[in-house]
Amino acid sequence: MTTADLRALDRSAVWHPFTQQQGWMAEDAPIIERGEGCTLWDTDGNAYLDGVSSLWCTVHGHRHPALDAAVRAQLDRVAHTTMLGLSHPPAIELAEKLLAVAPKGDRELTRVFYSDNGSTANEIALKMAFQWHKIRGDVERTKFVYLDMSYHGDTIGSVSVGGIDLFHTLFRPMLFDGLRTTPGDVEGLEAIFREHGGEIAALIMEPLVQGAAGILLHPSGYLRAVRELCDRYDVLMICDEVATGFGRTGTMFACEQEGVVPDLMSVAKGLTGGYLPLAATLATERIYAGFLGEFEQFRTFFHGHTYTGNPLACAAAIATLQVFEDEDTLRVLAGKTELLGELLEEQVAPLSSVMEVRRLGTMVGIELAEFPLESRMGHQVTLAARARGAIVRPLGDVIVLMPPLAITEDELRRLVAITAEAIAVATGAELPAAAQTAA
Ligand SMILES: *Cc1c(COP(=O)(O)O)cnc(C)c1O
Repeated sequence: MTTADLRALDRSAVWHPFTQQQGWMAEDAPIIERGEGCTLWDTDGNAYLDGVSSLWCTVHGHRHPALDAAVRAQLDRVAHTTMLGLSHPPAIELAEKLLAVAPKGDRELTRVFYSDNGSTANEIALKMAFQWHKIRGDVERTKFVYLDMSYHGDTIGSVSVGGIDLFHTLFRPMLFDGLRTTPGDVEGLEAIFREHGGEIAALIMEPLVQGAAGILLHPSGYLRAVRELCDRYDVLMICDEVATGFGRTGTMFACEQEGVVPDLMSVAKGLTGGYLPLAATLATERIYAGFLGEFEQFRTFFHGHTYTGNPLACAAAIATLQVFEDEDTLRVLAGKTELLGELLEEQVAPLSSVMEVRRLGTMVGIELAEFPLESRMGHQVTLAARARGAIVRPLGDVIVLMPPLAITEDELRRLVAITAEAIAVATGAELPAAAQTAA
C-alpha cells in the first residue's frame, strides 16, 4: 500500500488514543514503518529521532539485537500460554530478575503479579491493598489517597486516583471517592491521615516525578516523608514506577533515590524495553502472606488477565534487564544525562517563550509561556520538530523529551538543537546563540 492509501484507510477505519479525530483528519502524521536504535522511519523513507521513546517505553533502542533474538527464540518455543493454573519459564525467570533489581531497604518486595499495562498494574495494587485490609478485618479502610496532578492510567480505578482534571473530572460520577493531597505538602498529608487514618487503605503516588502532569518534580525528601507517614498510620504505600522505572530517573527505580521501598510497586512501560505490552505489580511478603488461607476462606486474589505474563513479553523483559547489566546502561547514562542538562541550559532555557525547564534523568519537561489554548502551541512545536526530523510530544504546553537511555551523545545534541529551533520557530522567539551554532 502507498502512503496515501494507508493514510486514507487510517482516516476511515482507525480511532487514535488521546486524539481529537477531527483535527487528525486534517494532518499528515507520519506512518512509521520501521525503527533502529533511536531512529524511526516513515513509509516515505523520512527519518526521525525518537525523542519520546515511543511514549516513554523504549529503553535500549529499537531493534536491539539481544531483544530481537530473545523474542525470536521464545517464538520458536511458544507465543502464549496462560498463567491461570499453569506456569512457564520466562515468567518465572523474569520474576526472579525483577525482584533482584527492585528497590532494597527496610522491607523487601518478594512477589510479582503480572498484567499487561500500567493502568491495570495500578488497579491490581489498589485492589490488593483494599482486599488485604478486608482480610485483616480492617473493614473501614476503603479509601485511597492520591496526589494533585497524578496520573495512574485510564481504566476506571486508575482514573479514580487521577488528579489531572482535564482527563479525569468528566468521569467523576463513574469513580470511587478518594482523598487528594498536594505534592510536597507533608503537613497537609499528615492532617489527612490524622482525620481519616482509619479509613485509608493506601496512598498511591508516582515517586519523585509526576510524568503526565508535565514532568513535575517533587521537593527532595517528600517521598521519604510520605513513606514514614504511611508507616505511622498503617496506610499501605503504592509507588507507581510505570514511567520512572527502568533507569528513567538515572537509577533503576526512582524510589531508590530516597531509600524507599513501597508495599506495592507497579511497573510497565520500560519493562520490556518497549517491545511488548507487559506490566507487573510487586508486593512485599507481608501483603502476599495476608492472602494465604484455605480455599474455602476465599482469600484468593480474584483478578487476572488473559495475557497476564505473556511469554514473548517476559522474554523481552528478561533480555531488557540483561542488557542493563551487559551494557552497564545506568553508568553510561550518567554522562549522557549531564550533557542533556547542559544542552537544555544553553539552548532551550534562554528562549523567551520558555518559562521553565524541568528534568530528572532523561525525563524532561519544557514549559512554554502562556499561549491561547486554540493556538495549540505545544502541538505546533511538535510539528516544527517533526519537520526537522525529531518526534516529540507535548502535554498541553509542556514539551516532553524522554529519549531512549541508549541515545548517543550526538543524537542528544541533535534532539536538543531541533527542539530549541522548533520552539523558536513555532513561538516566534529568538534562538539563543548556542542553539544557532548547534543547528
Ligand atoms: C503511562 C502511565 C500509566 C499507564 O500505563 P498504560 O500502560 O498506558 O496503561 C500509569 N502510570 C504512569 C505513571 C504512567 O506514566
